Order: sequence, then structure tokens, then C-alpha cells
Amino acid sequence: MTRTIQAIRGMNDILPDQIYLWEFFEQTVRDWMTAYGYRNIRMPIVEQTDLFVRSIGAVTDIVEKEMYSFLDSLNGDSLALRPEGTASCVRAVLEHNLLYAGPQRLYYSGPMFRHERPQKGRYRQFHQVGVEALGYSGPDIDAELIVMCAELWKKLGISDVRLEIGTLGSAESRALHRTRLIGYLERHLGRLDDDARRRLHSNPLRILDSKNSEMREIIDGAPRLLDDLDEDSLAHFETLQRLLRDQGVDFEINPRLVRGLDYYNRTVFEWITGKLGAQGAICAGGRYDGLVEQIGGKPASAAPACGFAMGVERVLALMVECGSEILRPVPDVYVIHQGEAANGAAWKTVRYLRDSGLRAILHCGAGGFKAQMKKADVSGARFAVIIGDDEVQAGEISIKPLREAAGQVRVGMAEAVDLLKRT
Ligand code: ATP
Ligand code: MG
Repeated sequence: MTRTIQAIRGMNDILPDQIYLWEFFEQTVRDWMTAYGYRNIRMPIVEQTDLFVRSIGAVTDIVEKEMYSFLDSLNGDSLALRPEGTASCVRAVLEHNLLYAGPQRLYYSGPMFRHERPQKGRYRQFHQVGVEALGYSGPDIDAELIVMCAELWKKLGISDVRLEIGTLGSAESRALHRTRLIGYLERHLGRLDDDARRRLHSNPLRILDSKNSEMREIIDGAPRLLDDLDEDSLAHFETLQRLLRDQGVDFEINPRLVRGLDYYNRTVFEWITGKLGAQGAICAGGRYDGLVEQIGGKPASAAPACGFAMGVERVLALMVECGSEILRPVPDVYVIHQGEAANGAAWKTVRYLRDSGLRAILHCGAGGFKAQMKKADVSGARFAVIIGDDEVQAGEISIKPLREAAGQVRVGMAEAVDLLKRT
């Protein structure tokens, strides 16, 4: 017997029964982005491994433990499935010189890949919508991005989501803070876990992001970056807060907010819900002024930038939790027919109905009227259109409502369209 082949663990099929939620989400995102003047960009899913190592940081969970990187056996290239979109987006912008025309407001969406332990809200192939504003130094654009998110949650019927903001300061203030942090952690060396010890000198800030509960106390007592902040970063952070207050967006300041990627500076933020258990982060982002230069290599192409990415599976799960009412699109009519003449008339009828803006399914395959009627019912259509010899003779069609207890009527085509559209 042949072994059945199944999908890869943590990589999900999205079935037709769930797709209406995805399509509603995608359409809402498109309209929302367009309203704010953000344009869509589409990058390949595979990039050179080095792009992510350089941008996300070699000593991060993503690059150390989660990235699908492999050697292309055909030519020996070192490639990776993208774990996130910012690096690819910045690469594309530089490769095509888009910043030459001025700052860019961009967005993308699609699958991302991380080799994590699959669980609810955490998958190996998951989807993100990413938004990047390149060439803007903020804090106005930082505020715009956050205000936009708040608006999207409303459009999606999402509540129970809170905003945490923080600042990572400038590279200089982080360097100062780093020294103080290492000093503190070294004084508590005995209580650090393996990950923390390994990162003590390579990436001490990331230790504060540890998910190990035994590290909680050490982390809570660590010196705060907010206290080491340079003046410009502090002013940036304060203006951001004022803008958010002006726009009526509530937030909490989280001095411990560090992102899972190395490239952030100044503003960082995260949207968190209490409704999805441990996988409560639905959207995260921040400023990454150094990344463009880091990837492009030329200081001339340096550009400040800010962006965020949301996890689509988690946002959709939250919509369901919040009971957002999404209309499942159903066909308007299912056309059943019997006999050769009726078959010809049925083809004409579905074309006419579709041209009139109705969603019409033509019964295909065998089956008597009764069996076809069952199919019509299962299809979810609001009406069955019935065409038999009598209808062909009269040059009319019969219409039977499937979702209410009204009787069948026989009418001409023009009248049929009126009737099908009215109800
Ligand atoms: P987490 O702390 O949950 O691992 P992260 O900090 O790794 O998240 P980011 O890299 O900031 O996540 O990605 C942005 C968003 O993408 C997250 O807020 C989350 O909604 C979503 N996301 C990240 N990893 C996954 C995953 N493996 N499965 C589903 N969604 C994910
Ligand atoms: Mg993660």
C-alpha cells in the first residue's frame, strides 16, 4: 500500500469553509491601506540566507533556532524561506532604487516561515501583513502607523486589544545601557539560564525578552533603558505619546519592550490581546533607522524607517473570539435542468443571470430533479432556478426560494432578474 502524504507539521491548509474570513480580512486591509496612501509590494518568498542574518541579527531566536535555511543542491547557494518581510522589503526598495523618488509608504502580505513548536496561534508557515514607511524620521509617521492599526481593529470588529509602546533609544544610548546591563547581569550570573549566559556579551538586551518564568525576577530588577535614554530619543518618544493622545489612542508604556529582531531603535510597539492565551501578540513593530544602510551598505542610501507586521492567523482568531459578524458569501441561484433543450436553456440562463450581476451555479453532471434540488440546497444558494420541458416551451424559468417558505413562481427572464435581486 502506498503511504499517504500529509502536509508538513505546522503548515496549514486554508479550506474553502474558512476562506470567507480571509477574503474579508484581505479586502478590508486593501481598502484600509489604499485609504492611507500605502502601496502594495510583493517580494519573493526565498532570499539569500545572509539577508536575514545581517538584518535580523545572528544572535536572535529567529536566526539561531527558527529559520528554514538550506543549501540549494543545484548550485550550492545558501537560501532561506523568509521568516519575516521587512528585510526583503528593504532589499527590494534598495535594489530598485525606490527611495530615489522620495519616501515610500509600502505594505505586503503573505506567508512567513519559522521552525517553531506548532501550537494554537504559532505555526511554521504563518501569514503576516507588513507595513513599512521608508524615508520618514518620525515621530509623526510612527504615530500614523499606530493610529492606522487602531482603526483596522475597529474595521475588523476586534476589541480587547491593548497597545504597549516603548523606546530603544539611539545606538549610542543603547551602548551605554548595554554596559550597565551586562554589569548587572554579571552580578547575578548564578541565576541566569543557558540562553541568557550565552547571550550575556553578544546580545544582553535580548535576555530581557526571555520567556523563561524563572528569569522574571532578574529581568524585573534590571536597569531600565528608559533611564539611559539620549535627549533626542526622549523628545521623539514624548512627541509620539502626545500624538497618540491627540488621536485618542490609549497606550501603556512598557520599559521592557524589546523586539525579537536586532534592527530596531527608538519607537517599538506591540498590540496584545488577552483572548488568545499565550499567543497574545497580534501585531508588533517599530523604528529601524539603521537597517536600510545595513542592508544597502552605502551611507548615501541611508534612510530612517518605521514599520510593523501583524500575524494574520492570530488576528482572524481574535475576530472569531470577538464574534465579528462576517457575511459568508452565498450563490444567488443554483440552476437545475433536465433534457437536452432544457440544458441549452440553462446555459443561456446562467450567462444572462451572471451578466446581470448575480452569482449563478449551473448544475453539472447527472441527476434527476430531486437529486439536483438537494445539490441546490447544499450549495447554500438563495434560490433554485428550475428549467424543464414546460419552461422551455413557455420561454420562462421557474424560481423556488430555498431559504424561506415561499412557493415556486414561473416568470420571464427580465422579471426573474428583478425578483432574484429584490429578495
Ligand atoms: P512571538 O513573541 O509570539 O513569538 P514575535 O516577536 O516572534 O512573536 P514578530 O517577529 O514581531 O513576532 O512578528 C509579528 C507578528 O507575527 C507577531 O506579533 C505575531 O502576531 C505573528 N507571528 C510571529 N510568529 C508567528 C508564528 N510562528 N505563528 C503565527 N503568528 C506568528
Ligand atoms: Mg517568535
